[in-house]
Amino acid sequence: MPSTRHLVSAGLLGACLATPFAWGLAQVQEWKSGVLWSRPKIVTPGDGTAPPSDAIVLFDGTDLSKWRGVRRWVVQDGYAQTGGGDATTRDEFADCQLHIEFATPDKVEGEGQGRGNSGVFLMDTFEVQVLDSYENETYFDGQSGAIYKQRPPLVNASRGPGEWQSYDIIFHAPQFRPDGTLKRPATVTVLHNNVLIQDNLELLGDTPFTGPPRYDSNRTRGPIRLQFHGNEVKFRNIWLRELSPPAA
Ligand code: MG
Repeated sequence: MPSTRHLVSAGLLGACLATPFAWGLAQVQEWKSGVLWSRPKIVTPGDGTAPPSDAIVLFDGTDLSKWRGVRRWVVQDGYAQTGGGDATTRDEFADCQLHIEFATPDKVEGEGQGRGNSGVFLMDTFEVQVLDSYENETYFDGQSGAIYKQRPPLVNASRGPGEWQSYDIIFHAPQFRPDGTLKRPATVTVLHNNVLIQDNLELLGDTPFTGPPRYDSNRTRGPIRLQFHGNEVKFRNIWLRELSPPAA
């Protein structure tokens, strides 16, 4: 038979275990931000890499009607191949999510910057380099996935010559104060073949071959431009979503 002392101890232990839980329930108050958010729009995702329902399809494999400068580009077999000059979208964009697929020539010719060179220019200004960087050395801030002359990719996720590859890019345009000074630099995140290679990078300015990066306070949006650099590079399945912050 348990002693009185044991019974008291058991009772105290039970009270100690139960009471904080009960108090906790009584005293918890949910915090609410007070912001009355708008209902997020419903978007139907695409299967695989197909465009989601709210995307602007820039090239679906059949025509380049949404692009300028494509007179000598060739559209066949569901892709568009560079030729004669850069291709530039007729519409202009600022903050966006861009999906694009590309393939450098399967026949390997040239080396360094001369091998499968093209580029995806955001706002017609900031180049995400396209290059055959599969066993092809060049300067690191000029290899595939580099922000040209600013930042190498975090890793080299390149597939081989002729293989289809993808960039998924999240871009935020620069913002300027009324006096033209930079308020917020442009930022870019890039997934190359689903591998993160640029992580919310703050851009230093544009990406010219001939000089240091600079911002132009008059440019806060612009077209997407695909570079013709003398190499035959193929593109397909290009779509874009314009981004805006959630409404309250
Ligand atoms: Mg290039």
